[in-house]
Amino acid sequence: MQVQIYGGANEIGGNQVFISEGNKNFMFDFGVSFSDMKEFFSEYLKPRSLNGILDYLYLKLIPPIDGLYRNDLINRYKDILSKPKYKIKPTTPNYVDAFFLSHAHLDHYKFMSFLKKNTPIYLNWTANSILSYINDIKSDKLMRECLSFHEYWLLLPKSSGSGKMKRAKIDDYEDIDTTRKINILEDEHPIYLETDNGKCKVTQYQVDHSIPGSTAFIIEHDGRNIVYTGDFRKHGLHPEWTNRFIKMCKKASPIAIITDGTNVPSIKSYRDDNYHQREKSEHDIRKQSDKIIKNNSGLILVNFPSRSLDRALMYYQLAKKHNRTFAVNTKIWKMIDYFRNKIEKTDDDFKDSFLKNYPLPEPEDEYLKPYLQRKKWGYFELKDYKKFERTILKTDDYVTYKEIKQSQENYLLYLDFYMLKELIDIDPDPGKTVYLKSITDPFDEEMIIKEQKLDAWLKHFQIRKTKTIHSSGHCRVNELRDMLNEINADNVIPIHTEHPETFKEFGLSSEIIQPEIGKRYSF
Ligand SMILES: [Zn+2]
Ligand SMILES: [Zn+2]
Repeated sequence: MQVQIYGGANEIGGNQVFISEGNKNFMFDFGVSFSDMKEFFSEYLKPRSLNGILDYLYLKLIPPIDGLYRNDLINRYKDILSKPKYKIKPTTPNYVDAFFLSHAHLDHYKFMSFLKKNTPIYLNWTANSILSYINDIKSDKLMRECLSFHEYWLLLPKSSGSGKMKRAKIDDYEDIDTTRKINILEDEHPIYLETDNGKCKVTQYQVDHSIPGSTAFIIEHDGRNIVYTGDFRKHGLHPEWTNRFIKMCKKASPIAIITDGTNVPSIKSYRDDNYHQREKSEHDIRKQSDKIIKNNSGLILVNFPSRSLDRALMYYQLAKKHNRTFAVNTKIWKMIDYFRNKIEKTDDDFKDSFLKNYPLPEPEDEYLKPYLQRKKWGYFELKDYKKFERTILKTDDYVTYKEIKQSQENYLLYLDFYMLKELIDIDPDPGKTVYLKSITDPFDEEMIIKEQKLDAWLKHFQIRKTKTIHSSGHCRVNELRDMLNEINADNVIPIHTEHPETFKEFGLSSEIIQPEIGKRYSF
């Protein structure tokens, strides 16, 4: 088997991994590298969709591989794209014989929208649900293309019969087949893929990470195994998933493991043993948050990664325990509601196990309410809201700044950076409000600037900010080292890390391969 890494080498995220056997290429994740994107772009400076994949290719944000991309994004620019700067041409044959998604984080899925229409896509029910949920709340065209396929720059004959053409609008696609080849994988139910050198067996395993539906893979050919871990940790609420995966890896005695190494520090830090500061567990988060909610009588604001269903449900449970209503923004509400509705359509066993892991409150639960912000004219009128928010407005079962302002002690309010303006309407009691910071500390310039603005808001309203109460979505260094030691693969390929060189310090008997972009490693 052969491995090629196109993204995620020497950086955190942006995984793009190929595993090939015989005449077949299987791709695992096609994510965006945040660090590369940030180098050129910012919130208001974005790649142009009018340019197809050109802006991304030009800036080397995606790899120049023939047969990888959908032709509708290339054809228009085929004269330019054949030039040495791009070296890419439209092709009918598809380079990717199967695409596997490990989980629904942007640094793993963003560019799957660029894949050809006939690329078989494999992902589990939960990741698929999250992608469709994100698609529902965002009007991002690229997002939509992950799970469906609307040909770009499509011209259709005008209905007037004049023989003239018009640009296709979204409604015009109703009569066109926009489906992609989506295959829902069941955890631990292997699939077999034919190659001209015999079958490959791919098995997906559930692992714990900061978003539901995170998975890892074991790829077997002719009794030899390669492992791809995706993103994972052992200190979340479901260590048993990761432990089970590790057990299966050990059994497979792999020839190579391509592993997430996010938290691995520089060699110096590792040797000095001063890298343990970010090692809180989800249980620590619960304990510390519980104490803060218990000891404060005024309004409590909380910010956490909005797609972390674990964290959202944890704050709901804590709010309930302390007799407060947890008011969440419409996006988090929609995520919970989305799962609530979708899980009803699955079979009983799946539903039971999902609800055991993610105990979703009922829609009418008084301890969880959607918080509606004022929009446009500011009167809470239907026409001022997005489609998914209108359903909330119609229920009449939501809270606004008015309710929070009136009885501040009865609420735990989710408040992210973009919701800070709400404080003007809520006008919290000075000196009585707490901001529970359950999100990562800033680690780049943009985030530091945001943090300074947050601090200015909190200072203005005399709101006390707690110390950071956050737990990493990625494996702790010592646990990772022990795991690699236990699995004892012939080769370890660290990705999703800025410090692959530090793996040599782990004292493993495995060969450590520091991946080079595009290099073909044969095992
Ligand atoms: Zn990641
Ligand atoms: Zn992730």
